[in-house]
Amino acid sequence: MRYECAARTDVGALALQALDPPGEMQGLLEEIERWPECPLVEGHGGHHFGLVRWLEHREAGLWTSWRDGVRPTALLALEDCSVWEGEDVCSGFRGHAGEHTWALRARDSAEEAVAASRPAG
Ligand SMILES: [Zn+2]
Ligand SMILES: [Zn+2]
Repeated sequence: MRYECAARTDVGALALQALDPPGEMQGLLEEIERWPECPLVEGHGGHHFGLVRWLEHREAGLWTSWRDGVRPTALLALEDCSVWEGEDVCSGFRGHAGEHTWALRARDSAEEAVAASRPAG
């Protein structure tokens, strides 16, 4: 089984530029994933991708993409992958490279982070 990429970036400054109006900024910042993690397979080519927030009612998400060592500069709306395996749905975007997320092994640190952020019950 292959590992997920799990590269991270800080999308904070980009989100501040992109999210308006300013009055709603604080609430929106609480709704976004400020340090999105790349769900693609390790060693994938091209850009990393990270989910910034789900877009409700659209079966899509607001994603950002970046290269190693470079801050992300764009937000893009991408449809969900929505490929199921048993009770697991892929959390990638439609047309992503490599295996679906349920076929990848999370890195240990990522597993701890997910466990810590998941509400009890
Ligand atoms: Zn990546
Ligand atoms: Zn997928």
